[in-house]
Amino acid sequence: MKHWRAIAIALVCAALAAVAFRLFEHTAHLQPALVTPNMDAQQALSPSLAGHVKRLLREQELYGSRAGRPKLIALTFDDGPYPVFTPLLLDALDKLKIPATFFLIGHDAQHWPELTARIEQSGDEIGNHTQTHPDLDLLPDARVRSEIVDGRTSLDGLVKDPAIDRFFRPPHGRYTVAVVKIAQSLGYTTVLWNDDPGDWRTSISTPQELDRHIRRFATAPDIVLLHSGKMATIEMLPSLAAAFRAAGYRFVTLGTLMRAVPFDDVNHPAKHPV
Ligand SMILES: [Zn+2]
Repeated sequence: MKHWRAIAIALVCAALAAVAFRLFEHTAHLQPALVTPNMDAQQALSPSLAGHVKRLLREQELYGSRAGRPKLIALTFDDGPYPVFTPLLLDALDKLKIPATFFLIGHDAQHWPELTARIEQSGDEIGNHTQTHPDLDLLPDARVRSEIVDGRTSLDGLVKDPAIDRFFRPPHGRYTVAVVKIAQSLGYTTVLWNDDPGDWRTSISTPQELDRHIRRFATAPDIVLLHSGKMATIEMLPSLAAAFRAAGYRFVTLGTLMRAVPFDDVNHPAKHPV
C-alpha cells in the first residue's frame, strides 16, 4: 500500500512540475509583437499571475488552433539611415523584391534627407524610432513624449508615409507600460517583434547564424527585428528570401501584414520553422 502512495505523490509532483514549466515557458515568451492603441497596455505587457494561469488554460479557446495563420513575413530594419549601409541594404532588398519597413531615427533622417527619400522611393515603409534614440525606460514621461513627437515631426517633414504616424518602435527594445501608454495616446501602435535574431550584438553574427536563427524561430505571421547598418544582415538576405519563399511565405511591409492579420493572431502566431 505504501508504495502506491509514493507513486501517487510522484505523479502529482510531476503534474505540478509540468504546469510550472508551461507557465514559465509561457511567461518567457509573453512579450507581444504589437501593442495597438486600443489594447490594455498593462494587461498586454505585464499581466497578473492569475491572468497568466487563465490565459494558459484558455489558450485554445482564446486564440484558436493557429494552423491557418497566414505565412506573411515582415522584415523591419531599425536605425539610420546611414550612408553606405542603407543604400546597400536598399539595393539588396530591391534585387530580391522584398518590401520592408524601416524604423528611422529622426535626427539621422534629418542629417541624410536624400537617403530617407530613397527609402520612400523604393516603396518601403517608414516608422518612428524616436528623435535621438534614447533609452525611453529611463526618461520622465514628458521627455518620452517629446522624443516620439519630435521623431514624427522630423520624418513627416522629409517624406509622406502614413506609417510614420502609426508605427513606433522603442530604441534598444527598452520600454515600460508608461512608454507604451504614451505612444498609444499619440495614436501609435508599438511594434516589437516575433523574432530577434540579434544582428545588433557587438560580437558579430555571421550571415549563416542570422539566417539559421530566423528560419528556426519562424512563425506565421512573422515580424523580424533587424538593423540597418549591418553587413551580415545584408549578406544573409538572398538565402533567407529563397528559404522562406520555398516554404510558401510572402514578404510584406508591416502595414500590409497588419491589414491582413488581426493583431491577436500576430501576437499569438503559429510556430513554423522553415
Ligand atoms: Zn534602434
